[in-house]
Amino acid sequence: MKKRLVIAGAGHAHMLTMSKLDSFVEAGYEVNVIGSLEYHYYSGMGPGLLGKSYSQEEIRFASKTVAEKMGATFTPGLVKRIDPVARRVYLASGDELPYDILSCNLGSQIAGNLTADPAVDIFPIKPIENLLQARQRILELGFAKKTTVGVVGGGPSAVEIAGNIWRLGQQPGMNPLEIIVFTGNQLLPDYPSGLRRMAYESLQERGVRIEENCRVKAVETGRVVATTGRRYGLDIGLVAIGVTPSTVFKESGIPIGPDGGMLVNRYLQSSAHPAIFGGGDCISFADAQLDKVGVYAVRQGPVIYHNLQAALRGTKLKPFMPKTNYLQIFNMGDETGIFYRSPFFFAGRGSFRLKNYIDHKFMKRFQAFE
Ligand SMILES: Cc1cc2nc3c(=O)[nH]c(=O)nc-3n(C[C@H](O)[C@H](O)[C@H](O)COP(=O)(O)OP(=O)(O)OC[C@H]3O[C@@H](n4cnc5c(N)ncnc54)[C@H](O)[C@@H]3O)c2cc1C
Repeated sequence: MKKRLVIAGAGHAHMLTMSKLDSFVEAGYEVNVIGSLEYHYYSGMGPGLLGKSYSQEEIRFASKTVAEKMGATFTPGLVKRIDPVARRVYLASGDELPYDILSCNLGSQIAGNLTADPAVDIFPIKPIENLLQARQRILELGFAKKTTVGVVGGGPSAVEIAGNIWRLGQQPGMNPLEIIVFTGNQLLPDYPSGLRRMAYESLQERGVRIEENCRVKAVETGRVVATTGRRYGLDIGLVAIGVTPSTVFKESGIPIGPDGGMLVNRYLQSSAHPAIFGGGDCISFADAQLDKVGVYAVRQGPVIYHNLQAALRGTKLKPFMPKTNYLQIFNMGDETGIFYRSPFFFAGRGSFRLKNYIDHKFMKRFQAFE
């Protein structure tokens, strides 16, 4: 019987493996890709999608088409549970897929539970597809009336989201948007004070209101409620308060790390179940705590690809050696960017152009397989 490789989630960490699925098929393995959607949206360009600088076609990768072109099967659905002993993946649809080797790229979700269901016009910024719906709603309301949009969170995503909502509000004929950022302490608390000032000034100069030291306890239809009890009215809310890994591993009894991600060794392999690999936001790397950023997911891609081949063939695995430093460029929504590679930071149009170039290059490289 053919050995079975299951690729669960076709996100950033699996992009390289997705583009080389044919090498597994040609080697005689049966390959099945599970995807929650037929497309994967590239988060680095998500804020620009919201601001209408990018179209959805520009920022997405056709997971289903690529899997099928490469000779693999694409199974639409959400992984609900994994049985690491029986080696089976269970989907929310009720389908089950057996595997010999499984690789998980199940990403992360917005942390906490600020939003009680059903909340109307409240959008967590993950999955990235939500930004398209938020864009649609902001345009609908913004053309009809003066609209208030709240962004809950104070990290890089919240800053980029606020800047790009401003950009969306520049559509000719639209009513002015009132944009409020609610942040529990300062804006960008983990960044150098000079960089923080740049982000602050960039947003404030464009009329974005920043409510610092405003810890939010609930985001409800039509309002944000602070822990002090104060209520702020809004029409649309976006929640950008950081992420936690997929809960599938915890619910499957697979060992997890302190952040709740699947605990993996230096080979990106489950510490308890050698037939399971993983990468990106859904893992907890045992040797070092890694930030939940796409940069690590993408850097893990070649190691995952190598190790899946090696595990199927029974050859030597390769370790992932994380570098602690990485480049970040924030898209501020006004065609400027803030460049940060510790300890250096600067802002300007050149930074945005560089980000735009890197992001398009990344997308073109993988969209070429569609
Ligand atoms: C607005 C925003 C902007 C960002 N900008 C940057 C940036 O510029 N640079 C940077 O380095 N990082 C950035 N990040 C962080 C980055 O998005 C994540 O670190 C990165 O997406 C992690 O990649 P991943 O492959 O682990 O997960 P993802 O890219 O989220 O991929 C996971 C995939 O699995 C699918 N999936 C999830 N659950 C299941 C399931 N149960 N079953 C099946 N499929 C499932 C999802 O649909 C998705 O396709 C940004 C994040 C946000 C929210």
